[in-house]
This record gives sequence, C-alpha cells and structure tokens, in this order.
Amino acid sequence: MSEIYLDNAATMKPIESIVSQFNSYMTEYWYNPSAMYSKGNFVRDKIESVRSMVSRELNCAHDEIYFTSGAAESNNWILKGFVDQCKIDNVMPIIITTKLEHKSVSSCLEEISKCEGKFIRISYVDIIQNENLFNSGCIDIDDLECKISYYKHLYDGNMKYYILVFIQYANSEIGTIQDIKKISEICRKYNTIFATDATAVFGHCKIDVKELGIDLLSASAQKLGGLKGTGFLYKKNNINIQPLICGSQERGKRGGTENVFGIISLGEAIKNIDYDIAIQISEKSDYMIRMLVSKFDCVLNGALNKRLYNNINITFNNNITGEALIYMLDSCGIYISAGSACNTNNPSPVLKAIGLSDEEISKTIRITLNEKTSINNINYVVEQIDKAIKVLE
Ligand code: PMP
Repeated sequence: MSEIYLDNAATMKPIESIVSQFNSYMTEYWYNPSAMYSKGNFVRDKIESVRSMVSRELNCAHDEIYFTSGAAESNNWILKGFVDQCKIDNVMPIIITTKLEHKSVSSCLEEISKCEGKFIRISYVDIIQNENLFNSGCIDIDDLECKISYYKHLYDGNMKYYILVFIQYANSEIGTIQDIKKISEICRKYNTIFATDATAVFGHCKIDVKELGIDLLSASAQKLGGLKGTGFLYKKNNINIQPLICGSQERGKRGGTENVFGIISLGEAIKNIDYDIAIQISEKSDYMIRMLVSKFDCVLNGALNKRLYNNINITFNNNITGEALIYMLDSCGIYISAGSACNTNNPSPVLKAIGLSDEEISKTIRITLNEKTSINNINYVVEQIDKAIKVLE
C-alpha cells in the first residue's frame, strides 16, 4: 500500500540528498569541530558554511545565528534568557505574547511564572473574533499597542523594566500568518524587543529579519526537510539575553558539542528551498479545501488568505471525532493529524483560543500537503474521508 503523507507540519521527510549522503557525512564529519587539528577545522568550516547559508536566508550577519537542538530550545532560550537578563540588569521583565503559541512557549511561560511569581508580568494579546473573521486566529494589533502603552504608563518614571513581545510568525495548527511587519513597527515605536517563532515559516516563505524588524527568531531543521534535533536562534547583535545552556560552544552562548550531522542536514534542506513551489501547493490546498467544504458539513479554521500555503484545518459538524478519522485513514495509508502532533492528548489550546468548544476541537483535523501531493491523492483522500464518515456516523 503506498502512503499519502499529509502531516508535513508535524515533520517533513528528510530530503533525498541527506539520506543518500548520510554515510559519507558519518565517516567524514565525525571529528570534534572544536579540535585544533586540521580535521577539526574541516568540520568547523562545514558548520560555519551552514551558518552563512542560514544568515543569507534571513538577511542577517553570520554571527547572529546560534545552532540549537531545535525551535523548542530556541524558544526556551529567548524567554528564560530574557528573564535572566532582566535579573542581572535589575529590571522587571514584562512579556507580551499570545494564547496561540507552541507548547514550548506556553509551558515555558508557565514555568517562568511559577518561579518568578510577582517579579514578572505576562500578558496575552487578544485574538480577533468578530463575525467575519471568526476563527481566523489573527491577533488584535491595536490590543498589542494598548498592552504595551498600559505598562509604559504604569511603570515609566517609577520602575525599571524591559518588554519582550513574543508572537509566533505563523500558527502550525491553523496556518494563520500574523502581520509581522505591523507588529514589529509597534515594537519599534515603543522600543520593545520583538521575538518570533518562525518554525512553521522558515524555508517555506522568504523571511528578511532586517526588513521585518525582528530581533529574535527560532526555527527547526525538521520542518524544511532536515533532521530532527537541530534548529537555530537568530539573535540580533545588539540584543542581550543570557544563555540557556552554558558552555564554550557557539561563541560562549550555547554550550554542548554541535550536532554536526543535524547542522549539515539543515544546510542540505536550505539548498533545497524553492519558494515558487508554494504557488503550486497552495493551488492544491485550495482545491482540497473546496472539495472538503462542498462535500462535507465542515468549517475551515484559520485565516482565509493570510494562511500557510499547505495548511488545511477543518472542524466537522457531524458526529465524528478527528481521532476516529485518523485511525480509519491510517488503515488505508493516509496520515493526517488532529490539532498539533506535540499535543495530542489535550484539547488544543490554539483551537480553544480561536473560540472552538471542546466538542468542536474533538471534531477537528489538520491536513498539511507537500510538493508530492497530487490531485489524484487529494481525490482519493476525500473519497476515504467520505467512506470513513459513513462508517463512523
Ligand atoms: N514551534 C513550532 C511552531 C513548532 O511547530 C515546533 C515543532 N512542532 C516547535 C516550535 C518545536 O520544534 P522542535 O520540536 O523541532 O524543537
């Protein structure tokens, strides 16, 4: 049975050149990149060449990229590193974020507030929920400005503080892309730091951190066809945050011997980036959305236009659960997901944040396409969903 993989937001299949060259990487690049002899330098050069590729992709300086174990670590680094920096500078940390963030952000914030108690302020920007944009998952940018100016009025002149605005670039569950340029303009206006989790976007849509005014950004190799366990943090040189993992590597900012194979895989994945493919995939996603919405009693979650080109997130109105549908489709080699793969046991906080009830969340599925998804695949999947619904109802 051939498989139809439609869970590309959870992870992407490693691209062909990584698989075919894996053995040669293992035999050539196993030396410690910090070693002084030539073989160490040989591995170091490879790492630095990938760092240059990432920095070219983002339009930043080479030394503004730090390799990590993935976006979860980078997100934790941003948040904990910011709070620690505030402690050193003896100022109050203020974090303004959203209820749409990945678990690596939301759990980290829970942990920080447990540890810091009344010495930190965390607030959440509203999500637009009016009749036309219901379920869009777009943040209310006016509310962001209100929240920043509220703290300015409250503390200016009587307390030292730093503000970090942490807002994801795009949501990996519902696909909504935020207006990063507008968000950063507000951050500039009030002189706050702006961090974004670009895991769902890096390698799929062009990101220019200078043009977009981003100070800190996280991403993972596995979301663009590299290996799991590798990612990076972009940190603008004038932004100070404390390390999360202490040690000598990454210019003293991130300890631990580099994951050389993971970093090489990131380089291979970057070589493979093709932004034009987005148009073809989005045409197929649109086709699939039209098929699903016309054939079944369901609604599309997330913004209609400002969405990741391969994301489809729908809630059924009939009596089936996303979980049951996943198992039925699994038996015919079709792989999809319900909400986020990192969070399968609890009702998705993201879907909750955009206004879905627990029951609606249980009836929600996410389908994420790739360049290999054909119209035949889509027709077959819709047929199988139809069959499954008839059995399940
Ligand atoms: N942020 C987002 C939006 C993600 O989707 C993920 C992975 N599911 C992460 C962060 C964490 O990435 P990793 O597990 O590769 O560290």
